[in-house]
Amino acid sequence: MKAVKEMSSFDVEKIRKDFPVLSQTVNGKPLRYLDNAASSQVPNLVIERGAEYLKKEHSNVHRGVHYLSQKATTEYEAAREKVRKFINAKEAKECIFVRGCTEGVNLVANAYGRKFINEGDEIILSQMEHHSNIVPWQMIAEERGAKIRVIPMNEAGELIIDEYENMLNERTKMVAVAHISNSLGTINPLKSMIETAHKFGVPVCVDGAQAVPHIRVDVQDLDADFYVFSGHKMFAPTGSGVCYGKREWLEKMDSYQGGGSMIYTVTFEKTTYAPIPEKFEAGTPAIAPSIGLGAAIDYLNSIDLDAAFAHEHELLEYATEKLSKIEGVKLIGTAKEKASVISFTLENVHPHDIGTILDQEGIAIRAGHHCAQPVMQFYDVPATARASLAFYNTKEDVDVLCDSIQKVIDVFA
Ligand SMILES: *Cc1c(COP(=O)(O)O)cnc(C)c1O
Repeated sequence: MKAVKEMSSFDVEKIRKDFPVLSQTVNGKPLRYLDNAASSQVPNLVIERGAEYLKKEHSNVHRGVHYLSQKATTEYEAAREKVRKFINAKEAKECIFVRGCTEGVNLVANAYGRKFINEGDEIILSQMEHHSNIVPWQMIAEERGAKIRVIPMNEAGELIIDEYENMLNERTKMVAVAHISNSLGTINPLKSMIETAHKFGVPVCVDGAQAVPHIRVDVQDLDADFYVFSGHKMFAPTGSGVCYGKREWLEKMDSYQGGGSMIYTVTFEKTTYAPIPEKFEAGTPAIAPSIGLGAAIDYLNSIDLDAAFAHEHELLEYATEKLSKIEGVKLIGTAKEKASVISFTLENVHPHDIGTILDQEGIAIRAGHHCAQPVMQFYDVPATARASLAFYNTKEDVDVLCDSIQKVIDVFA
């Protein structure tokens, strides 16, 4: 591995100026924000777009004849088109706005599950899933009398694909799997996994929460049936997210939540439903956050995204090499194909103590089970410390992190 020079094609200092949060001090030290897998930061473009919306355009969508309502509707639908282009969906109508990845998985699990999952059927998940891609499936499995099966992984945190292939059969009704693990950073071989599932006629629901901010995603190239993600991990505000679904599936599924906007006609005897996407967007949607998500996509389109991702990947390699040289550090998750999540433990130090001491140095990392308790069970640890990078992080962030971890080790020695 070579040392990282900040790459000439990517001016990280210039990019950092776009994110006002980053230029502050915490506990008297420059902030080192390394908790991007939990929530990323928001650039000025998104902040300004949100303010403009609230100052000049705020109104309810779809129902109004007046100017503001029409303006809000136009902007909300424009954001949907930006999402379509960003993930290369065939149609904007296949992109349902939800409040985050969790709501998206619940939508698919309920709307698909009630229609297509029956007694004795099987749902395949993986050992490395976030709770958001486990619990909704368990709930629907219980309701429908179906069984959950789990793709195992190896010590490096890579799925054992042979086992996955042996699990698929005529009872399998869904494969729900993460594109990138939030606790390990593993990038799963999704395209071939989807191809295999399709040989059995089984649809795949991808948890893309950690993929959209770190790699290019093309839902048509992947041939994903459903692809779900949150806005707040891709430089947009909380309360935004997308549940992409192929039209053929979305049309066959019934609505998941009932209420305003999702109907065509209502009488007490019978309700008829609106077409997609409204059918799955009951009630007043998260208009401001969704427009913010559209602005975050504008921002990503305005920078050299490939250079940004390459910069981030070099930082990952630099950090991995440097951390693995510190005596007492154990890296958790060492897959060959990895995105910028670095989970680790220190001998004799609880991850929460690591997090607390690093906070004193202005460093934001996460300590805990990362909503992936089955991953902690697999490695037989109660928790890990997790540093997760975004393209606005620097080599200096990594250096300060490593120096501070050495201090933690010295304190507990
Ligand atoms: C964060 C995350 C989720 C849940 O996203 P919310 O924004 O909390 O709904 C699901 N899966 C993965 C892989 C995540 O990183």
